Amino acid sequence: MNSSPLVLHSISETREWSGEIRRSGTLGFVPTMGALHEGHAELMRVAARECEAVAVSIYVNPTQFGPNEDFARYPRTLDADLKIAEAAGASAVFIPTVESIYPSGLANAASHAAQFSLPAIATTPLLEDAIRPTHFGGVCLVVSRLFDLCEPSLAFFGEKDFQQLRVITQMVEENSSRWKSLKIIPCATIREPDGLAMSSRNRYLDPSQRTAALGISRALQSAANCSSVAAGEKSMRATLDQHGLETQYAVIRSEKTLCAAESGAKFARALIAAKLGAIRLIDNASVGISSLND
Ligand code: AMP
Repeated sequence: MNSSPLVLHSISETREWSGEIRRSGTLGFVPTMGALHEGHAELMRVAARECEAVAVSIYVNPTQFGPNEDFARYPRTLDADLKIAEAAGASAVFIPTVESIYPSGLANAASHAAQFSLPAIATTPLLEDAIRPTHFGGVCLVVSRLFDLCEPSLAFFGEKDFQQLRVITQMVEENSSRWKSLKIIPCATIREPDGLAMSSRNRYLDPSQRTAALGISRALQSAANCSSVAAGEKSMRATLDQHGLETQYAVIRSEKTLCAAESGAKFARALIAAKLGAIRLIDNASVGISSLND
């Protein structure tokens, strides 16, 4: 039986607790926006296996949402979240206030996010960065603040948000003197039994949209062993169309740069963003390519 995680609200208690943990062992960190599901729980379980203590943060970060996005309606399910965190072995749940994350106010935070010096992978692939131009500024701002407050040794991020995982990894590599010995650990995407990637936003789907959303994982599967990038992308688009999904992007890119796949590469990353009405879902998978000569 796991014991209830400590609930931390203030910066001082979080700093004090994490400092104590660091003196005796490894602190693992799982940043989230709450509305927790099995994908988040798996990150916590992996962290609990590798670390003496695991801190989970729950914070719906306003600066990573664009003006017409779902910040206001994003699901907030704190009681259920605490139960999931406990069952998954979290030692502490940090639920910061807006003031502790953005001490100089939200208006200033938005301009700090816009000025954040982002790693290239946040601005060059023209994937999430093209569709949500202010998103990674907000993500990097909040994650760097959380790293500064918690000072973890290992931080766990899901491959579900593949560009985000790569952005955070590159940000940490480029700031190795700020977060000394911090390592980012990627964790595999957790899916529903029928293949849909778990996401807090799946709660928005009505039954017919839930069925249509399966088109995303099916599209990724259709490109799993493609003869070329063009063939894989074509089959993904066709599958998304068949399911009535509006494709924002369905591309096969270099795993490393998320730009064009290297010539001759045998593996690459298929990435999809698609909409069902106002609901936007993303997913990705590794794919094998038998030839790049399109
Ligand atoms: P979020 O609460 O959506 O910001 O996600 C918090 C963390 O959980 C991020 O590192 C996500 O990539 C990760 N995550 C979300 N969904 C999944 C999933 N289905 N499988 C694995 N990790 C996930």
